[in-house]
Amino acid sequence: MKVGFIGLGIMGSRMAANLQKAGYELVVYNRTQSKADALVKQGATRANTPEDVARQCRLVITMLSTPEAVEEVALGHDGFLKALPGNSLWVNCSTVNPSFTIKMAHHAKKMGQRYLDAPVSGTAGPAEKGDLIFLIGGEAADIAQVQELLDVMGKETVHVGAPGQGAGMKMANNMMLAHAMTAFAEALRLGTALGISEEMLCKTLLNGPAAAPYLKLKQPKILEREFSPQFPLEWTHKDLHLASITAYEQNIALPSLQATKELYAQAKQQGLGEEDFTAVYRVYLPNEEK
Ligand code: NAP
Repeated sequence: MKVGFIGLGIMGSRMAANLQKAGYELVVYNRTQSKADALVKQGATRANTPEDVARQCRLVITMLSTPEAVEEVALGHDGFLKALPGNSLWVNCSTVNPSFTIKMAHHAKKMGQRYLDAPVSGTAGPAEKGDLIFLIGGEAADIAQVQELLDVMGKETVHVGAPGQGAGMKMANNMMLAHAMTAFAEALRLGTALGISEEMLCKTLLNGPAAAPYLKLKQPKILEREFSPQFPLEWTHKDLHLASITAYEQNIALPSLQATKELYAQAKQQGLGEEDFTAVYRVYLPNEEK
């Protein structure tokens, strides 16, 4: 089976590489073409546009940054959706908001195609190891069609429910992720202001019941001030923005989401957007320690 893969950034490049290693024939497209070179060298076919992908495949996976990027690649001038053969399947792994993903599902249906929202939990490391968790909204029969591919790229598939609910679960997950990081950063700042060392704070807090389990993995980044991106801070801010839109659409108040979103906005404003999201800690540090 030929698989079209669009979006070869931090996540997509690793997911596509795992499919390739498992023997799937890939047709790949990335806006910045050089990011496709490694896959092409290993035998993937390079497509010059998203439309060019659709002319060669009946299954397309997208792993793009934002709703705007997804819309452009799917429905823009060279978009792939109009060029797919009827009854093809689009698996959208990008993190986008539920109302947007439902809109994409409707566009796909109108054009005679099938659609799954399939965002992932897990960052660059799990993407590389094939340990992602897929959070899926859509039809069980469509998931069954791609289950073997999902098992190559991930260790678990959660069928959350109807279209949009995979994206909804991802919003909920990333809100917790972002909150946990700023809560930890504030705990560290309070502790160090009182003269307790960062090492002592990390050891005690991260082995206690209040810490989110993933924070232990992030400890070296904090202690060594090594913020090379695994999950770029600008995407954390984007996800909080999308969660905020979702809360507005649902007419619910999520006050601490708004405060947390502004902390990441502040970090972005300070030039930290392309660093790992743990770099939000820098917002709290005195200038001489940033
Ligand atoms: P990334 O490295 O920045 O890659 C983003 C991809 O989107 C690149 O292929 C980029 O192309 C493409 N893109 C952006 N705007 C575009 C446009 N207008 N037209 C065409 N292509 C466009 O991001 P990532 O970390 O892989 O994340 C991808 C998605 O997964 C995001 O929704 C993110 O929130 C989500 N996610 C990320 C992680 C993580 O830990 N990194 C974990 C879970 C989920 P260029 O190469 O040309 O810029």
